[in-house]
Amino acid sequence: MQTAHQKILIITAPSGAGKTSITRHLMKRFSSLEFSVSATTRQPRNSEKDGVDYYYIGTEDFKQKIQQKEFAEWEMVYEGKYYGTLKSELKRIWALQKVPVLDIDVKGAIHVQKQYPENTLSIFIEPPSVEELKKRLEGRGTETPESLNARINKAAYEISFKDQFDKVILNDNLENASATACELVKQFLQS
Ligand code: 5GP
Repeated sequence: MQTAHQKILIITAPSGAGKTSITRHLMKRFSSLEFSVSATTRQPRNSEKDGVDYYYIGTEDFKQKIQQKEFAEWEMVYEGKYYGTLKSELKRIWALQKVPVLDIDVKGAIHVQKQYPENTLSIFIEPPSVEELKKRLEGRGTETPESLNARINKAAYEISFKDQFDKVILNDNLENASATACELVKQFLQS
């Protein structure tokens, strides 16, 4: 369980909506925030590091952790690829007297909100349009045509859940969206 001093900040959005950029901006601005490193069964990309970007674990190991109730939430975000927030990660960050920042998918975010309703701020980053999202993902160059399609279909579905979150920020301009996020987080940290 979460006590009154144990806050959680959730940043969620369809993939490519800019949530990682906004999360990074927030982490630089507020020293009391600490990135919550998720566990995943997907392979590391390019410069990603184990224990920094994710805890990369095998599928059997992941399933065992599900059974042992070690996750605050977990999802099969893409076909066959699991992602989850370990309860031990939240405890690690709270023990540092810091606030965990969860950069997670929409379903996972809804679960965390339900499970930790006290002192949790959830922010949904809305992309300007599905077309724009497609352009951004293509520009990132990390997707195959299949994975690009999967991400676009999922994005359209995820946008339909935006009203379930505390705040929605439209990211039609990264600088403005980051500034709005900073203002919301500042109020949350002071509350
Ligand atoms: P990527 O593979 O691009 O790093 O992440 C894919 C998606 O999984 C992103 O939307 C990311 O936010 C989400 N994700 C990362 N960690 C977690 C997690 O612990 N739980 C859930 N539910 N989603 C996550």
